[in-house]
Amino acid sequence: MSKYINKVFTGLAERNQEQFEFLQATKEVLESLEPVLEQNPEYEKASILERLVEPERQIMFRVLWEDDNKNIKVNRGFRVQFNSAIGPYKGGLRFHPSVNLSIIKFLGFEQIFKNALTGLQMGGAKGGSDFNPKRKTDEEVERFCQSFMTELQRHIGDCTDIPAGDMGVGAREIGYLFGQYRKLTNRFDGALTGKSPGWGGSLLRPEATGYGVVYFAQKMLESKERDLQNKVCTVSGSGNVAIYTIKKLEEIGAIPVTISDTKGAIYQKTGINLQTLKRIKEVERGSLEDYMRAHPDAIYTPIEKYVDHRNPIWSVPCYAAFPSATENELTKEDAQELIKNGCVCVSEGANMPSTPGAVDVFLRNNISYGPSKAANAGGVAVSGLEMAQNSQRQKWDIGRVDEELKQIMHTIYHNANKAAEAYGHPGNLIFGANIAGFIRVADAMLAQGRI
Ligand code: NDP
Repeated sequence: MSKYINKVFTGLAERNQEQFEFLQATKEVLESLEPVLEQNPEYEKASILERLVEPERQIMFRVLWEDDNKNIKVNRGFRVQFNSAIGPYKGGLRFHPSVNLSIIKFLGFEQIFKNALTGLQMGGAKGGSDFNPKRKTDEEVERFCQSFMTELQRHIGDCTDIPAGDMGVGAREIGYLFGQYRKLTNRFDGALTGKSPGWGGSLLRPEATGYGVVYFAQKMLESKERDLQNKVCTVSGSGNVAIYTIKKLEEIGAIPVTISDTKGAIYQKTGINLQTLKRIKEVERGSLEDYMRAHPDAIYTPIEKYVDHRNPIWSVPCYAAFPSATENELTKEDAQELIKNGCVCVSEGANMPSTPGAVDVFLRNNISYGPSKAANAGGVAVSGLEMAQNSQRQKWDIGRVDEELKQIMHTIYHNANKAAEAYGHPGNLIFGANIAGFIRVADAMLAQGRI
């Protein structure tokens, strides 16, 4: 770490003690920027780093709602508007009991670079609540979403800040959120993405993150004259990202054999059955224990039986791995096991799923490693395309959206790869993605003056 970067990080750590995830994310980015700052002293002169690590605005609010038994419940709502130098704030909403300021700040910070990499005009933001939509009735979720939006609508708008879904926020939640936004503002506009295609949503938005993760993996492998056809792949998670990663893997002839959730993990040698998975997770909102009733040939390991708290998924021999559940789910030991068993590619669907130790193992072993801010940018990219369609009052066909998504994922790969080479770390896409995203945002900040 250079003296300047060290000073910025030390100050940040002092001001944000106990924000573990946020400091992990900022450290990784700052460390990779050293060669850029050496070659471009104007960034230090304008204190770009100090400005970049401080959100432009953070909003925290009380969300009061009533459960079905008329009990009053109180949750916390968040929206961190991190950086708007290259476009209106853009980033998802996460509803999960683990949500706190550190997690929202880490996700918002990552979003700045991810959005910049897409080449579209989108700043970085993230939001959410510690509300747990699991085991709530539809009516409870509806009341919560309405209360959450009653405050959030003051801070968003199609030219200001455009939230979308993330963990715990899917089509149902976006519907309730948009309904309340429309009622309170008297506007039907593109202030949210992830809407249903019948009322302003883009085709392929639900599929976009998972599809993009696979397109990114294909691009990384192509550069080494490899592909995924007939290859065994491991996937963690069983939500939106995991489901559509599996769908695309199946479409291109790969064999995804694992899934997991907060209760356990499944290994099915013959390949995961997508139809059963979609029914359980998208319709019945159940757990993977239910999957076993339909597929007794699969192997289920409940979380209590995990050895040393390690997810058994990462011990399954595979050609490529797609961590798609949550942050820090894949450890150094898991990474070593993957490599030992022949894994040559990791494409991250979840945000920051690999611990710093795991990333280190991937880089030292020179495998094709797609860091989340590059590999999972497909979701926000199609959200950007949804914004474009909303502004034009148009709806593009699925072929056009898919083609644009593919192009964006390929461009992200090329730009990250080029930046990694240009700044002395060939093949290191984590450096490349951080640098390419940073330069676009930092130049916009420089051009727009001391604000
Ligand atoms: P979902 O809520 O649809 O699914 C999350 C999945 O991960 C569920 O299967 C959940 O299990 C599992 N999970 C969550 N936390 C844990 C945990 N601590 N241990 C084990 N399993 C866990 O979320 P998404 O699929 O949308 O998001 C997954 C990841 O992808 C997140 O990191 C998100 O930020 C990232 N992402 C999502 C995008 C999107 O478009 N949706 C875009 C870019 C990134 P259970 O079913 O039991 O809750």
